[in-house]
Amino acid sequence: MLVTLNENLKNAEKGNYAVGAFNSPTLESVRAVIEAAEELQAPIILAHAEVHNEIIPLEVMGPILVEFAKRATVPVTVHLDHGSSLEMVKKAIDIGFSSVMIDASHMNYEDNIRIVQEVVAYAHVKNVSVESELGVMTSSGLGGEEMHSELIHGDYYTDPLVAKDFVERTQTDALAASFGTVHGIYITKPNLDFKRLEEIYRNTKRPIVMHGGSGLSEEEYIKAINAGVRKINYYSYAARAGAQAVKEYIEKENNANLFYHDFTVVAKESIKQNVKRVINIFLNKGEVLANGEA
Ligand SMILES: [Zn+2]
Repeated sequence: MLVTLNENLKNAEKGNYAVGAFNSPTLESVRAVIEAAEELQAPIILAHAEVHNEIIPLEVMGPILVEFAKRATVPVTVHLDHGSSLEMVKKAIDIGFSSVMIDASHMNYEDNIRIVQEVVAYAHVKNVSVESELGVMTSSGLGGEEMHSELIHGDYYTDPLVAKDFVERTQTDALAASFGTVHGIYITKPNLDFKRLEEIYRNTKRPIVMHGGSGLSEEEYIKAINAGVRKINYYSYAARAGAQAVKEYIEKENNANLFYHDFTVVAKESIKQNVKRVINIFLNKGEVLANGEA
């Protein structure tokens, strides 16, 4: 069933777990994520990243995401990831998205607040939740969906005191905060600032969103969830798992036996297993062991 981000994250708050948000720019990835969630009976977030409009436009993929969410036997939020403008946000809401992210984190502080206020005013009357970002999540440059990849160096971590002011003035439903994760594939080991994360959560009393959430260890996920992270954006490693499976399939099969439709089957299964693994961790049931890359 289709639910708002608010509803999904409120339940996560009660149960002290995080809901995985998965960008799904292909039919295989949507089916993989939905099947994984239904098999585990776990709530999820299906997301369309604005930068993926190059792969498949919002107008094409959006209605498919909404339809899958409505038919699902688990709560599914359909979310716009890194929306860059009120115009794009309106488009997503018109299609039936139950949640949008407006990312104006690269603007100066007052401009960020102003655009988030506009989006909140528009979305809330339509019962759509809003995520916004303070501080800048950079990109490793490998497979990330982030738009601001030029900002790889420097300190863009979220200030916990500024976060309090930001949330009070914007009334954003969820806050994407920067505390050490990066988008894409990790080239060096991430160094997460959990103390900062706890402070941001305490000051804002909002569900915190972790971007660049693939490639962390199980222990790091659990620590982040216990410190207030309720939404984890997970994409790059699942997408890579799908590609890896296709590559292995091509190497194994005879050339005469290669048909494109079989790639989609192989990719879907691989993405599904990858996603199932992290959903299990995000549920924070204390069943997973420390160590091991997720
Ligand atoms: Zn992101």
